[in-house]
Amino acid sequence: MSSVKQELLAAIGQVENAVQALREAGEEVTLFYTAPEPAPAKVVPPSAPAQVPPKTVPAKTTSPAKATPSLGAFESLAAEVKACTACALHRDRQQIVFGEGSQEAPVVFVGEAPGAEEEREGRPFRGPAGELLDKILASIGLDRNRVYLCNLLKCRLPGNRNPTPEEIGACRGYLERQLALLKPRLIVTLGAFAAQTLLQTSEPLSRLRGQDHAFNGIPVIPTLHPEALIFHPQNKRQVWEDMKLVAAKLKHNARG
Ligand code: SF4
Repeated sequence: MSSVKQELLAAIGQVENAVQALREAGEEVTLFYTAPEPAPAKVVPPSAPAQVPPKTVPAKTTSPAKATPSLGAFESLAAEVKACTACALHRDRQQIVFGEGSQEAPVVFVGEAPGAEEEREGRPFRGPAGELLDKILASIGLDRNRVYLCNLLKCRLPGNRNPTPEEIGACRGYLERQLALLKPRLIVTLGAFAAQTLLQTSEPLSRLRGQDHAFNGIPVIPTLHPEALIFHPQNKRQVWEDMKLVAAKLKHNARG
């Protein structure tokens, strides 16, 4: 204890003794200093409810609100794809085509691979096939801003040839991670390769169409690629039948 404090306490003691002696002698002594009264305890009004931790509102299980995928995770996946050299397709690429649309979309359309026009623009489904897809979307009240569009392969396939099993094997992980981030309520595959890859089957598209499928618990509706309709317009009816299924599924999901 510091000497200043000791002197102070001693002085207080002397004053207290002197005051006591005066009071015993019948003198009235008024002190200008009084010890502060203890602060009154906070009175909680009887009606005030006891403090309880805030209730956790359980997430709706029937029709969960779609959370936007973390921008960082989506961007870093796109950056990873941009630098990918996992298959030979990276050698001639001008740029990757990662995908576009609403990341909160309830439905993701998955095509095969970007063509020359898509690569030039860096956007999926451009040119005549893209215009046809726009019409297909419009037939069930959708447009590019209300869906997400991407491909199985992120780099252009030269000469519009079919992808090899090696190319699909090298790239499919990106699509799977993309879908895991997007968490759509429905996936529509366009063409045989996207359907067979996601559903891990070698069944022809003609057998896969119209059946119930799922990828990681997400319903999958396989249909034809719009480019196939350019060469075989007589197949439009099949796509229309599939789109009716898409519309019904989305309506059902929206109702929860
Ligand atoms: S196609 Fe896919 S796996 Fe092949 S280089 Fe492009 S991003 Fe990589």
